Amino acid sequence: MESVRFSVVIPVFNEEEVLPETYRRLTGVMEELSEPYELIFVNDGSRDRSPEILDDLARKDPRVRVIHFSRNFGHQAAITAGMDYARGEAVIVIDADLQDPPEVIPEMVAKWREGYEVVYGKRAKREGETFFKRFTASFFYRFLRAMTDIDIPLDTGDFRLMDRKVVEVMRLLREKNRFIRGLVAWVGFRQAALEYVRHRRFAGTTKYPLRKMLKLAWDGITAFSNKPLKIAAYLGFALSFLSFVYLLVIVVTKLLGKSTVPGWASLAVINLFFSGIILIILGIMGEYIGRIYDEAKNRPLYIVDRTRGVDGTHEEPPHDSC
Ligand code: UDP
Ligand code: MG
Repeated sequence: MESVRFSVVIPVFNEEEVLPETYRRLTGVMEELSEPYELIFVNDGSRDRSPEILDDLARKDPRVRVIHFSRNFGHQAAITAGMDYARGEAVIVIDADLQDPPEVIPEMVAKWREGYEVVYGKRAKREGETFFKRFTASFFYRFLRAMTDIDIPLDTGDFRLMDRKVVEVMRLLREKNRFIRGLVAWVGFRQAALEYVRHRRFAGTTKYPLRKMLKLAWDGITAFSNKPLKIAAYLGFALSFLSFVYLLVIVVTKLLGKSTVPGWASLAVINLFFSGIILIILGIMGEYIGRIYDEAKNRPLYIVDRTRGVDGTHEEPPHDSC
């Protein structure tokens, strides 16, 4: 088996408008490094022409390998699959939409050669994204930092280089509902940040609607923190104390012989307030229980339909492919 120095993992979901350009830019950058490399495109159940475009690239270029999922398993699952199949000594994960400029890769490689095992891209500036996206992303990274005990770097997405050592450790972590940037922070090793300007999408629209963003946010928080459960408990104690105080007020008013008939309004307000709090707490618990359930079912993280340029090149089938 010929050895590969660099593997570039590219998750793809309905990216037909950008793929030819992504391939062209990545190839240009990787050829400059003049060492053997592979481009691993993970087709995350695209419903446009992306699968055909990718198969075509693989047919023409032996350095292109394609993994087709049986359906959409999500960005984090796609990255996981790419890392499972990668053979390189260093693995680079990059979005397909050219928001993360491939031209930063040689700088990452230089840092890697200095001895860093993880080089992560830090977004110094974000171009061409809505105020809502920038605001929610910025809030999320800071909220996550406040909620978790591990040091997840701010404004850092999944654009990063990882040494083989790190990839091997990451491959052992098969938890469901993955938040990969958190897992990378968790495994440790020598890590370096590299600032870059996040550009606007080359073409197409975001594949991260609010629903997927919220799912990722919950995954990040629940996977790395039990604080929401603690906050729920503290809130419970605090409110019990307040209601006890109110109970005393009611008893004293009664003993003093004051009328207790008026007070419907306060009772209704208290009832609504407490029901709301209880539902929120139940919801938080539900998020954790749902994730425990996912772990218990232990389904694979993704299902591979077919591959191209991969068969026969793998010594052992990756852990989760079916
Ligand atoms: N992506 C994916 N599966 C999904 C959603 C997105 O593989 O379910 C890919 C997408 O093709 C892109 C990357 O993940 O390469 C990041 O998605 P996107 O650019 O839409 O997210 P944004 O940059 O808007 O946060
Ligand atoms: Mg993008």
